[in-house]
Amino acid sequence: MTERLYYRDSFLREFEAQVVSAEAVAGKWHVQLDRTAFYPTSGGQPNDLGRLGSPAVLDVFEGDGHTVVHVTGAPVAEGPVHGAIDWERRFDHMQQHTGQHLLSAAFVELFRWPTVSFHLGREISTIDLAAPGIDVQQLEQAGRRTNQIIFQDRAVGVRFGTAQELAAAGIRKEVQREGILRAIEIEDFDRQPCGGTHVARTGQIGLVLLRKCEKVKQNWRVEFVCGERAARAARSDLATLGEAARHLSCGLAEVPAMVGRALEERQAGHRERQRLLERLAEVEAQALLATAAEAREGGKAHVLVRLFEDAGADYLRLLATKLAAVPAVQALLGTHAGGHVVFAQSAGLSVDMNALLRDCLGVAGGKGGGSKDFAQGSVRDPAALEAALKCALERLRA
Ligand SMILES: [Zn+2]
Repeated sequence: MTERLYYRDSFLREFEAQVVSAEAVAGKWHVQLDRTAFYPTSGGQPNDLGRLGSPAVLDVFEGDGHTVVHVTGAPVAEGPVHGAIDWERRFDHMQQHTGQHLLSAAFVELFRWPTVSFHLGREISTIDLAAPGIDVQQLEQAGRRTNQIIFQDRAVGVRFGTAQELAAAGIRKEVQREGILRAIEIEDFDRQPCGGTHVARTGQIGLVLLRKCEKVKQNWRVEFVCGERAARAARSDLATLGEAARHLSCGLAEVPAMVGRALEERQAGHRERQRLLERLAEVEAQALLATAAEAREGGKAHVLVRLFEDAGADYLRLLATKLAAVPAVQALLGTHAGGHVVFAQSAGLSVDMNALLRDCLGVAGGKGGGSKDFAQGSVRDPAALEAALKCALERLRA
């Protein structure tokens, strides 16, 4: 059993201890001490980092028989050792963890929604609430109440006792465990069994900022950040909003309206473009068909070939559809932009355009497919387009 110094003093950053055992495991060392200030991953809070002598502590976890195992990257000699924990990381964890106690208590006080799980992440932390649903106002209310308790700078104490003693004192979540338990008390607000590390006064949390809220299985997950993380999140949001405002040449408050307007304009522009393409395809189809009018009067299918420089694949499809709507027409269309091709013909003709396209694109190193009357594809090398169209024209004429 390892004596846990952080149980009574979460602010202990350095300590002296005896190395009880140190064994090599998969290229690293598992070190046990008689006493430690290092927090092992448990109860939703990640482990501490730091040093034992000069070797870095890479991980800390709960071992068998209430021990704490420190994983180091280099061997640690048995005997006395000086331990030092990475205080910036630990203090951040203390802020997030104590903030969680307050937030969970606020949700109980306001709405009677218990917290069913807690996760302290690298960037954000979350609690899962057993709630029927949460709206924006309720989220804001809980955030405000939590910050009120933070600003009142209430004392955060540690109390030890049996499950019965703690239950008699009034506790947010009852536990059935044997022996002496540890509870965290927030002056006149909350009492909760917990083995984690916490700040000494609520003011040290600084601020809580509630972020996202989403349904996860049957519970509601609330994302939150405390302390420097809250300031960092606010700074980052401001930078994002500021960048959007610069792009839109407007003030921060006008960003949503400007984005809405830009989206409307984009949709209107898209509709206008479709309308113009339609008209252009109609005009172009009529011009191409005029050149073929005589041949079609003779009762033969006429082959129309057109190679564009910069038309899009959607324009080729549009034009091909218009051409094939007229009887006795076979259209072979290509565009250097993207190397697209469309082969189409009027209904009732005997040629298989799909087979023709596959054959001629295969020769040109491209691929595609479609139906008997309408097939499309592309070649990777635009220089091969002409060869593909020539191949198709020759086969149709043969
Ligand atoms: Zn706790």
